[in-house]
Amino acid sequence: MYNSVSTKAEEFICDEEIEQVIDFSKKNYLDKEIINEILSKAENFEGLDYKEVAILLQCLKNKQDDVIDRVKKIAMKIKQHIYGNRIVFFAPLYLSNYCVNACRYCGYNHSNCNMKRKKLTQDEIKREIIALQDMGHKRLALETGEDPVNCPIDYVLESIKTIYSVKHKNGAIRRVNINIAGTTVENYKELKEAGIGTYILFQETYHKKTYEKMHPKGPKSNYAYHTESMDRAYQGGIDDVGIGVLYGLYDYMYDTIGMMMHIKHLEDTYGVGPHTISLPRMRFASGVDLHDYQNISDDIFFGIVAILRCAVPYTGMIISTRESKESRKELLKLGITQLSGGSCTGVGGYADSDKDEEDTQQFNVDDTRSLDTIMHDLCKDGYIPSFCTACYRSGRTGDRFMKLAKTGEISNVCQPNALMTLKEYIMDYASEETKKYANDLIEKEIQNIKDEKIKNTVKARLKLIENGDRDFKF
Ligand code: SF4
Ligand code: SF4
Repeated sequence: MYNSVSTKAEEFICDEEIEQVIDFSKKNYLDKEIINEILSKAENFEGLDYKEVAILLQCLKNKQDDVIDRVKKIAMKIKQHIYGNRIVFFAPLYLSNYCVNACRYCGYNHSNCNMKRKKLTQDEIKREIIALQDMGHKRLALETGEDPVNCPIDYVLESIKTIYSVKHKNGAIRRVNINIAGTTVENYKELKEAGIGTYILFQETYHKKTYEKMHPKGPKSNYAYHTESMDRAYQGGIDDVGIGVLYGLYDYMYDTIGMMMHIKHLEDTYGVGPHTISLPRMRFASGVDLHDYQNISDDIFFGIVAILRCAVPYTGMIISTRESKESRKELLKLGITQLSGGSCTGVGGYADSDKDEEDTQQFNVDDTRSLDTIMHDLCKDGYIPSFCTACYRSGRTGDRFMKLAKTGEISNVCQPNALMTLKEYIMDYASEETKKYANDLIEKEIQNIKDEKIKNTVKARLKLIENGDRDFKF
């Protein structure tokens, strides 16, 4: 029985309800009145529920191009209105690829004997952080395999401390997001106390049977424990979580509706939905045969992103370097607000960049541009690359953040913070070519700050940054 506030995974992600909603969408996706109602709701930034999302997904599946074109236009409008031109950057940092699980789609799979196993020492972590700071990164997503012996929670906590402690030249990692396996309430409490930003955990697929097939061994094989992880995270005091599915494992319609149900569960139960949604598609990884998966085309993927932007206008949406440069450019228009850049998906690959990282890599990356090249390309296209970490450091998380996001007030701080962190990047890390485009962009964008007081403060702070000061924030 479907119950959005149940504590049981199989009740808040209800298979029967998803199948019924898919059936309903099949019968109604041609109904113009229903479509118009859904689109006008989206246009008014009201968000969409999982039933409405199902109707739009059915239009996507059945090539109702006129509807999907309208969805894309609305997605672009929402993106521009709420987020403006800023794109937030982060880098993944892989600490350890030891893993006791056997996820079929992952190179770190316990059964993959070809994978070279490695765990960074605290000194190696410091070297990685220095390399990341030298690129200009301020925000990390920490990644580890699940292994209570080789990678216990104490190691993760010690590593977070190490990361925050490294101050190299003008660099600093100001926000550490964590992507580790579902764990206990006690461990979530400790992560919260260690000062993490977002706790990220992908569901991979909401379809229980497929989930069990994809995760045949190890603690992650327990569907309920994994699906209820965010509940335990909230109970441990974490109010900033990131979710995602891995597109390609099961039917995209089922998984997107499942993800919308998960969002509803978190909103209805804890009063605040996820801060971010990550949108990975299956990629080749060591020991993985892509023929075993039902990967989705660019057209479908772009459509899903646009539908989600309409459905959750206030949630950050993330695309990693799994996607190509061309796809990422397209996806930015449709609602993506965060990108990774210059990423290494192996253990220890930032400091030893000439070493072949492939033997410790979780999956292959497609966008292999350096961070500076991405900065350059984005500035040229009129986006403001941002290294802002202000919200979490100012206590703007959970429902406090959502209130600001929903009233649109957040954009009053996002854009100035983006300009100031971009200026820091220009002063400390940018190539001459990037500097030129980025400085022109700042000059232009500063005129778009509506509040005169904020505009003048930003101007003054930009001067101070030129003179060597760092880390201003609103
Ligand atoms: Fe381990 Fe995570 Fe890879 Fe699964 S996805 S094998 S849990 S690292
Ligand atoms: Fe993100 Fe907050 Fe910075 Fe905006 S101000 S970019 S929401 S951290």
